[in-house]
Amino acid sequence: MNYPTQPNCITVGCSMLADYHSLYCSAECVQRHAEESLKLLAEEKKKRMGSKSTVSSSKSVTSPTSSLLGPVPWNSYPAPVSSQTESTLPKEGIAVIERSTGRVIAGVAAPSQEEIFYWLQDHPSFEVLRPPSG
Ligand SMILES: [Zn+2]
Repeated sequence: MNYPTQPNCITVGCSMLADYHSLYCSAECVQRHAEESLKLLAEEKKKRMGSKSTVSSSKSVTSPTSSLLGPVPWNSYPAPVSSQTESTLPKEGIAVIERSTGRVIAGVAAPSQEEIFYWLQDHPSFEVLRPPSG
């Protein structure tokens, strides 16, 4: 088994060898990885948020629950966020992982959606921590 010591570029569809101390073969692949991961994360979020919104077109149109408690102090409606939230991703950073060491950077310390591409170029041993499929 002649296993190459140099791993392949992790970007899907790329079979090039990665750079030394990098997971990617090129800056292009860093960008592709970042974009694909952001897409995945956005889709994952949508899935999670949309999982409970299947309560449409019920036969009894008049909802009786509203008069039960009167004015509800807790606002059950989602706040209008159209002006600020352009992205589907949370404001906290994109979680990244360095597989060789198991280091994970998440939360506020993690790079933001806008920074992730440049951040990965500076830290090419990291990759975006993707949601588990399924
Ligand atoms: Zn590549």
